[in-house]
Amino acid sequence: MKVYLIKASAGSSYSEYKAETGGPPQNIFSTAAATPRGVEIEMTDETIGMKTDFRSGADVVAVFMSTPDALRAYEIADRFREKGKTVVLGGLHTMFCPDEAQVHADALLLGEAEGVWEALLADVTAGTLRPRYKRTTPADLSRLRPYPTDIIPPSRYNWTWSVAVGRGCSNKCGFCLVHKFFDTCRFRPVDQVVEEVSRLKKLGVEWVELHADNLTVNRKYALELFRALAPLKMKLYGETTILIARDEELLEAAANAGVKALLFGIETPSGAALAGQGKAFVRPEKVRDYIAVVKKYGIEVWGDFLVGFDEHDVSIFRETLNFIRTIRATRTFEHLVIPFPGSETFKALEREGRIITRDWSKYDGAHVVYQPLSMTKEELEEGVWWLWKKSQGKFGALIYSLFSKEAWRG
Ligand code: SF4
Repeated sequence: MKVYLIKASAGSSYSEYKAETGGPPQNIFSTAAATPRGVEIEMTDETIGMKTDFRSGADVVAVFMSTPDALRAYEIADRFREKGKTVVLGGLHTMFCPDEAQVHADALLLGEAEGVWEALLADVTAGTLRPRYKRTTPADLSRLRPYPTDIIPPSRYNWTWSVAVGRGCSNKCGFCLVHKFFDTCRFRPVDQVVEEVSRLKKLGVEWVELHADNLTVNRKYALELFRALAPLKMKLYGETTILIARDEELLEAAANAGVKALLFGIETPSGAALAGQGKAFVRPEKVRDYIAVVKKYGIEVWGDFLVGFDEHDVSIFRETLNFIRTIRATRTFEHLVIPFPGSETFKALEREGRIITRDWSKYDGAHVVYQPLSMTKEELEEGVWWLWKKSQGKFGALIYSLFSKEAWRG
């Protein structure tokens, strides 16, 4: 049997942002890792400009999608089905819009792939394919195999690679899907992560993303992991919360391990908006000092920002710009709020009849897709562009150039 794993990309700003802030996409690589031995694997990651091969000889085509890439994924799925292929859809958007996805697929892979992907392939062989496959229990991360490096090699990701470290988050921020997708917060055994990073170093990988939705949420684990990684002297980065700044022992261990950058969701200078999203643990008045502490350990701070919450009126753009200029993050990424289907934010907007469009390609952080509460749609659009323009001058904000490709057009 041969399977073809495709990460669909509509070339949106969001996809580029994800590609820029992470290594290889988790969905196709974790599914490749879970594929039974003896099954041939072909892979395409459209986020890095690879072209989908519609002449593939694969028996099963599995297409993975985030919301902004959904329409592109359906296009790919439909074309392969016309050719008589068995088509599977997976990824975040499939999980939260299964009825919509089902129209374009023979089967859906819902949630974590491990265990059910293997069952799905066995059913294809037996001719007993079911429409939906979903785990009933969280995957055991100690049973994960490393992402393959011989199908799409690390050179395609500028020698940056991703190692699965953890899944899930104990927080429940309203706009976020992590706690909806993963029932529990789990981590992989430290020795397995260390072994994989060591192997990647021998392969010539320069940067390793310690991939976890919240890398340091389990302090004991994070400390153990950082200490075990230190002898390898690799360049590492990951994503956690700004609260790490309150724990200098952990920060020192991270720095000694080789952590060079951490991505934090700082989101907004509006305490009311943070509280509205269940993220009041980010205290705007503390962020500047926290960032200074992190940078003291030689760790770059990448800050993620969102505009367009209900608590935001037209004053938020200047307020955010002033805040960004004050806190001295190394890089900042500013987006519009994306109400991903499945999130509490989407549910609330839908209840209130404020979703303007279900053209998923617009759910990319560069288009307004809902009626804002405290300003007009036009004010939100113009405001975010003003913010991008201003923040780029001061900080060379990477995301500005990424977004500009898409949004200046629209
Ligand atoms: S802390 Fe981050 S990963 Fe966790 S729920 Fe909030 S936004 Fe999501």
